[in-house]
Amino acid sequence: MKFSKFGQKFTQPTGISQLMDDLGDALKSDQPVNMLGGGNPARIDAVNELFLQTYRELGNDNDTGEANSTSIISMANYSNPQGDAAFIEALVGFFNRHYDWNLTADNIALTNGSQNAFFFLFNLFGGAFVDEKNASSDKSILLPLTPEYIGYSDVHIEGQHFTAVLPHIEEVTHEGEEGFFKYRVDFEALESLPALTEGRIGAICCSRPTNPTGNVLTDEEMSRLAKIARRYEVPLIIDNAYGMPFPNIIYSDVTLNWDDNTILCFSLSKIGLPGVRTGVIVAAPEVIAAVSAMNAVVNLSPTRFGASIATPLVENDAIKDLSDNEIKPFYQQQAQTAVALLKNELGDYPLMIHKPEGAIFFWLWFKDLPITTLELYERLKEKGTLIVPSQYFFPGVDVSDYQHAHECIRMSIAADEDTLAKGIAVIGEVVRKLYDEA
Ligand code: PLP
Repeated sequence: MKFSKFGQKFTQPTGISQLMDDLGDALKSDQPVNMLGGGNPARIDAVNELFLQTYRELGNDNDTGEANSTSIISMANYSNPQGDAAFIEALVGFFNRHYDWNLTADNIALTNGSQNAFFFLFNLFGGAFVDEKNASSDKSILLPLTPEYIGYSDVHIEGQHFTAVLPHIEEVTHEGEEGFFKYRVDFEALESLPALTEGRIGAICCSRPTNPTGNVLTDEEMSRLAKIARRYEVPLIIDNAYGMPFPNIIYSDVTLNWDDNTILCFSLSKIGLPGVRTGVIVAAPEVIAAVSAMNAVVNLSPTRFGASIATPLVENDAIKDLSDNEIKPFYQQQAQTAVALLKNELGDYPLMIHKPEGAIFFWLWFKDLPITTLELYERLKEKGTLIVPSQYFFPGVDVSDYQHAHECIRMSIAADEDTLAKGIAVIGEVVRKLYDEA
């Protein structure tokens, strides 16, 4: 069969798609696997109980019978392309109550997961442009700090349109301990980028907290990015998949802002509902209208099931309580455990941990490791432990001459404590041997 260029672009194997298949296969195998590779959120009992209870109530919330319940109504009817109106109304109330953003329903659209939102947004703001005088140009998405989320890499319908800035690496302490570093935006490099000053950037985007590193851009960094975005008349897209106010897996003391030049993307996935595929975009009405139009073509209407479960939880703030009192403390505890285990295994070796500031991952830097972390990935896999090597997390960067991009790994901390301990023990054993034999 012959596929179009579009078809070829989306079906060609990429390094990461092979790796993801590896992760999937490992889960299906009957060999025990220390799965520290995926992006699935943790299983947290209190969270699952609330979702189950809400789910049951939705099936029984009408006196005239289950056939008239909220759950059947949401499953048996399309919403309009913007998304489930009751959920959008609940979100407007929620955001205005907590942030005073003065939103209306025209500021919110739903998507089938936030990955779907990035597909829309990166193709809206990156790729081929034609101006009023019919002049063509090509614009890219500016990633002000890489490493960045792997899922951005291949979403453009044609080619790849990213301009990325490498970070400043700063050694920092964490809870009084040495052995940590933090990435900071290199504003000097960013502001002098020809692509930016010459109008070849269509939007700026960052995840905050960042997948893969757990970095949280500071308020000062965010406000500088917002100013740059305004100066060059491009939107600032903030990927809030792990951020405030839900799931709120964020430990540093920062604030979340929105204005009409900001596009905020939220997701229900990391509160524990990745299977309902629900993303939320908060943006100016012009962007919401564009996303709704794309929804109409690609999805007819976005899925309503997650919306119907989340609506009561957003209306009564349970989603915020759950995030603040269950989800955030859970991951904070996991982060403490992981630091202790890693220090125990590799405290005397050149391991540097990115300061854990949020999200569900650790980013480990093995300085001057004698092999690349792609090779390390293979060695760990042989011993039944799965992580993700760093080289895939640099969309828009040619990493062939950038050693740092071959010295890090992403490790999930969402696994149960036993898996975390076993996985880190294997990482310790393999990495110690590599350094000892060098
Ligand atoms: N953004 C980031 C930073 C992520 O880590 C993920 C998923 O892992 C997504 C977006 C997409 O999530 P979803 O499509 O499940 O909302």
